[in-house]
Amino acid sequence: MPVEEHKIITKRFGVENLQDLEVYRAHNGYRALEKALRMTPDEVVETVQDSGLAGRGGAWFPTGMKWGFMPKAPTVPSYLCVNADESEPGTFKDRQLLRWDPHQLLEGTIIAAYAIRASVAYIYIRGEMWEEMVQMDGAIAQARAAGYIGKNILGSGYDLEVYTHPGAGAYICGEEMGLIQSLEGKRAEPRAKPPFPAQKGVFGCPTIVNNVQTLSYVPHIVNHGADWFKGMGSERYPGTFVFCVSGHVRRPGLFELETNAATMREIIYDLAGGLYEGRKLKAVIPGGASTAPMTPDQIDIVMDPAGFLLPGRGEFRGMFGTGGVIVMDDTTCMVDALLNLMHFFAHESCGQCTPCREGCPWARDILWRIEHGQGRAEDLDTLVDVANNVSPFLGPFTTICPFGAAFAYPIHGFVQTFRSEFEAHIEGGGCPIGQNEPDKVPG
Ligand code: SF4
Repeated sequence: MPVEEHKIITKRFGVENLQDLEVYRAHNGYRALEKALRMTPDEVVETVQDSGLAGRGGAWFPTGMKWGFMPKAPTVPSYLCVNADESEPGTFKDRQLLRWDPHQLLEGTIIAAYAIRASVAYIYIRGEMWEEMVQMDGAIAQARAAGYIGKNILGSGYDLEVYTHPGAGAYICGEEMGLIQSLEGKRAEPRAKPPFPAQKGVFGCPTIVNNVQTLSYVPHIVNHGADWFKGMGSERYPGTFVFCVSGHVRRPGLFELETNAATMREIIYDLAGGLYEGRKLKAVIPGGASTAPMTPDQIDIVMDPAGFLLPGRGEFRGMFGTGGVIVMDDTTCMVDALLNLMHFFAHESCGQCTPCREGCPWARDILWRIEHGQGRAEDLDTLVDVANNVSPFLGPFTTICPFGAAFAYPIHGFVQTFRSEFEAHIEGGGCPIGQNEPDKVPG
């Protein structure tokens, strides 16, 4: 039986004019908010906690537990930040959630803000996603006019303001402390934790940062109850997950599945239509640029976010990540693919930590010369050493934020798995596949 999608938060995609409040209301919209406002904030937190919802931004921290860290009788303003700064290569689901169903996110945002007793919610949207931000501004205006935002929401006595805030064009704005810094008008340089945002977040006040996908589930959980959500997917991480599949497949796109419903093979071949005629699978990046690649003999494992063990190897291969699946066929040069990722990381390091600031461009430059026929015998060991200086494979990291580990993991994974291809570049004086592009120069 081919694997089937189980759509919850992507179910209404394609409904005409769903961005309009009346259409959204005709599809059960804002019923969950009405229900939530009849509950106490603590009852909403408890419902979300019981549902087992975990953060879908990549960290999988239990959402209800995170909300429970907020003060119950705040003496200063509390804030909710919605992280819509989606920038991970290969990951494009938040953008679609904003585009197709903005009121779903807004309803989840208002309910979450009520649960944590926030007086202001900021939807921090990646600067490049301008159209989505304009659309979200329209949804906020409609919701305000209908009494879902503002003073005394639906007569409940609860006051909330919601604002969008454009991102500053850097990947690191998606790291929660970087986002908070940016929102405060500073450079998006992540702060060391503790203190955590619930203790000291935006403007020094208690703050929760939640991802778009996470909050999009909240109205459905309030509507249908914790047991409904807990009845889907894996025991540890119930519910569904949205995979973004791109690369060398016939039918790239978003696929919403229960969290333990499919293997990587089923995602690639059943849902994404498989590879083009005559091509063979070479590797697949399972969860965004910072995860190690899987090889064709590893794609029969179930894509369960609890992490996965490779059959026959028993070795943990990194976090499930963001669900950004990038498929590479046999025309792909793995040195060029890693060089491409390192161009990204070198550009996006915020520069605070020496191993990250210096290591990313150093790794990129080494890869550039390997790809362009100037590789040296010692280059691979140096490359791994640069990565080890930030984080040994799946070990602790030496930097302020996890960005350092994020650039180190793909180096470890690519070099471990495709070492012979890297060596062939060095020994043969260049790329045997011939995909190197002359315009990709360091710097
Ligand atoms: Fe900045 Fe990199 Fe340090 Fe993170 S790890 S704080 S991105 S320099």
